Amino acid sequence: MSPAADLVRQSAAVLAEAIAAGEVSSREVTQAHLERIVDVDDRVHAFLHVDAQGALEAADAVDRARAAGDALGPLAGVPIAVKDVLATRGMPTTCGSRILEGWQPPYDATVVERLRGAGIVILGKTNMDEFAMGSSTEHSAYGPTHNPWDLTRIPGGSGGGSAAAVASFESPLAIGTDTGGSIRQPAAVTGTVGVKPTYGGVSRYGLVALASSLDQAGPCTRTVMDAALLHSVIGGHDPRDSTSIPEPMPDVVAAAQRADVRGMRIGLVRELSGEGYQAGVLQRFTEAVAILEDLGAEVVEVSCPHFDYALGAYYLILPSECSSNLARFDGMRYGLRAGDNGDRSVEEVMSLTREAGFGAEVKRRIMLGTYALSSGYYDAYYGQAQKVRTLIQRDFAAAFDQVDVLISPTAPTTAFRLGEKVDDPLAMYLNDVATIPVNLAGNCALSLPVGLAPEDGLPVGLQVMAPALADDRLYLVGAALEGALRDRWGHLLIEEAPAL
Ligand code: GLN
Repeated sequence: MSPAADLVRQSAAVLAEAIAAGEVSSREVTQAHLERIVDVDDRVHAFLHVDAQGALEAADAVDRARAAGDALGPLAGVPIAVKDVLATRGMPTTCGSRILEGWQPPYDATVVERLRGAGIVILGKTNMDEFAMGSSTEHSAYGPTHNPWDLTRIPGGSGGGSAAAVASFESPLAIGTDTGGSIRQPAAVTGTVGVKPTYGGVSRYGLVALASSLDQAGPCTRTVMDAALLHSVIGGHDPRDSTSIPEPMPDVVAAAQRADVRGMRIGLVRELSGEGYQAGVLQRFTEAVAILEDLGAEVVEVSCPHFDYALGAYYLILPSECSSNLARFDGMRYGLRAGDNGDRSVEEVMSLTREAGFGAEVKRRIMLGTYALSSGYYDAYYGQAQKVRTLIQRDFAAAFDQVDVLISPTAPTTAFRLGEKVDDPLAMYLNDVATIPVNLAGNCALSLPVGLAPEDGLPVGLQVMAPALADDRLYLVGAALEGALRDRWGHLLIEEAPAL
């Protein structure tokens, strides 16, 4: 294993083993990825910030530890890209917004601390829709990310930078966050793997809040096993997050190794396919269902009738929470301060700062949320949405009485064209129709690639959903299906992506 071009095409698991065995150094692996970023990121724009020096120092530390005979973690020495919504000491954290331009957090998020503790090498921060609101990364204040499969297309959002970094072989691993699908939908449209862990399974400490009752960080990778390895590093209880679950997490790595669906009951969600879904997406999904049956699973249709109302409920709950969470960006404490000429009142400076610092989508959601929470409307909007949320939780509970996991297409379409939906918020929101129920219920889901849509040659994702704290089931099913598809194609789908 050596030419740099080969190193960037390896999985994280293979790289970690080679580093541990002394076949290659972490510095060589890191250098190869930094070179790849220089070669392609002017076209992809996955990164907002690259920390070459910090990455090489971290790589050298792993190489020294290995030389000293220290025990290395399962992903030690492997590079990663981190979504720019997680606090990183010594590196900017902008959330894709002008309002935080130049801000350097004084501390690391728990997820980042765990990555560093495991010897994982942070390459830099990835592009995203401003404050994680969007499905295309076009709402970034720093320009859009391009889909490596077709540079005229969106990479999904809000974590399009993380998915594109992995899909373009700039990094074998990335961290995303998923409030309504921002890990899974980008994974689906870039031919990569993305996991939204159980709410409370991964610490939110140091994750800049969008909607605190929905936000969850998770893995973006090219293989299901890599996602399991990364999940095991970042997951588990954190006393600094009051919503962190104080229980041991399931053994996701063992589940990915077992990769067996024999005897499993799999529910196909009737409300999450059919009308509104692209024909080629449904075709690849149906083929994958047949493969799961061939592998020994029993697939039955399940109805979750309230999922039809999930999108409406989400687009009230999320703006409500975000209108409150984003109140802290007032020009007094973080980042940008506009119009402070010494004569203006605090209120005027706050208002000018928020006017200059926030983009149109962020302003739209703050206004929607403020309205939904206002006296006289609270019960009709926010209160009703919370009731729908409970009904969706009950749909999941009833379904999981019958089946072990649920499946659906991850997104209704393949990657659409940059510019196609950016001025049409409702069309943009409809991308999230299949991913949102899981966030509202707090359970977990994984998206993996199941082929290319015949009409446009772009990747299609299948979503596996499991009950809260049964994240291991995602990996049992995901790894089994991935293995069967790899046998069929002779390689992973991502190997078909253009070389750039
Ligand atoms: N597309 C969704 C939204 O715009 C997803 C957001 C997310 O998961 N961060 O709200």
